[in-house]
Amino acid sequence: LNALKNSKVRKLDPDHITAVRCDGISIGEGTFTVVAGPCAVESEEQTLTAAKAVEKAGARIFRASLFKPRTSPHSFQGIGAEGIPILAAIKEETNLIVETEVLSPLHLPLLIDHVDMLRIGSRSMRSYELLKEVGKTRMPVILKRGMSATLEEFLLAAEYILAGGNEQVVLCERGIRTFETYTRNTLDILAVPALKELTHLPVIVDPSHASGRSSLVIPASKAALAAGADGLLVEVHPHPEEALSDGYQALDIPTFEGMMGELKALVPAFGKEM
Ligand code: PEP
Ligand code: MN
Repeated sequence: LNALKNSKVRKLDPDHITAVRCDGISIGEGTFTVVAGPCAVESEEQTLTAAKAVEKAGARIFRASLFKPRTSPHSFQGIGAEGIPILAAIKEETNLIVETEVLSPLHLPLLIDHVDMLRIGSRSMRSYELLKEVGKTRMPVILKRGMSATLEEFLLAAEYILAGGNEQVVLCERGIRTFETYTRNTLDILAVPALKELTHLPVIVDPSHASGRSSLVIPASKAALAAGADGLLVEVHPHPEEALSDGYQALDIPTFEGMMGELKALVPAFGKEM
């Protein structure tokens, strides 16, 4: 991967690891960090219920999008900046770290003082102006792999952020486009050890968008742990059947609790703590 020569994302030696730190937690240093929450903020009640449940089950970071990048302009676009007080309520009422998707450089000033962490979605991995703006901040950020991006392109997208001086980047494998249609995407499980070989940045896996089916989220999560991932990003909804986006892939609360119980037993076998 020639383009990575002299890059800031490149791993210099086997012990070269960057831990991404946020409010007392550290991602990438022997921990298995679970980011969980609904695809989108829909209402205060739905968001708070999800947050309290995922915290109780052992997640450390809460995910919920205000701005949704939807394939169709007629699909639910998210509640937008109106939802900022809801995210503030989560920070007030739980000890969770709160992250949300930043879809446009225009949204960055709106979000930056109200969340702890940013997420750049798959569709925005190639929004180079957004990457540059996030690179100017010192906010921890989850960068998702573009659905048709090679690992080299993915790492070069991360390089944009690091080049701006922001080293707090967590890479997220979320499945890639293949000929298979049974699953929403194809989880590129080997991306995890391959990225770990190439870069010092932490790597997490999103089993929800990778599979598109709640029934496949638990096996995908275990595969991610076994492949060496530093954590997961999982969609959880109090009532998946009523979700305004991605309900078919969201875990309900009891299923998420069950998965966390299983993971807590498995994580030490892989030399990590949860
Ligand atoms: C999401 O995490 O809600 C999301 C939109 O995922 P992706 O960007 O991976 O499609
Ligand atoms: Mn989603």
